[in-house]
Amino acid sequence: MPQHVESISGCAYAVDAQDRIAAVDGGWRQFAMENDGEMLIADRVLRRSLWDYIRGIENRLIYKRVLDHVRQSGESVAFDLRCDSPTLERHLRMEVALLPENGCLFQTQLVRYEVREAVLLLSREAVRSLCSVAVCGWCMCVEVSGHWLPLPDAVQRLADHHTPVWPNLAHTICPDCFARLDALLTSSRPTWHRLDFGADLRH
Ligand SMILES: [Zn+2]
Repeated sequence: MPQHVESISGCAYAVDAQDRIAAVDGGWRQFAMENDGEMLIADRVLRRSLWDYIRGIENRLIYKRVLDHVRQSGESVAFDLRCDSPTLERHLRMEVALLPENGCLFQTQLVRYEVREAVLLLSREAVRSLCSVAVCGWCMCVEVSGHWLPLPDAVQRLADHHTPVWPNLAHTICPDCFARLDALLTSSRPTWHRLDFGADLRH
């Protein structure tokens, strides 16, 4: 198993009642160091708002709803998501559980992975155009011309039009993943409707 896969096989972090990052584990530190994650190094993230690190308003709303559900029900929530690097397709399982004093614990486990040829669309080294495409952080499907395509198909389509310049990525959640998570969190629907688009989520 490649080292950078091994390091995310177990990764956890905790937030306090105000959604500030209160603790990160060794898996987090290792992952940040090995995945160009200077911004994620522990000393810099502690006491920062969780919302600084979740990209896209839709994703922030989903995570807000997950946290509300866990805090209000006391029940853990588990869901699947992706955390790809250019050369690795990573399928993760995340569980969010209640901690004392209304904190929450996020625990991520690697379910499976595949090594692949580098996908330049995901690379920090890629030359970007002024265009952008939406990418779902939960399944890595990409919206191309109004259709949500699996990553390899999307890359093929975008390569036809943009190579060697790639569009920027706008991180969001696709309709299928939203429906899946919505069903999972149905019992917190009242919270969803009450959701305040607070300043923390808006940037
Ligand atoms: Zn999706």
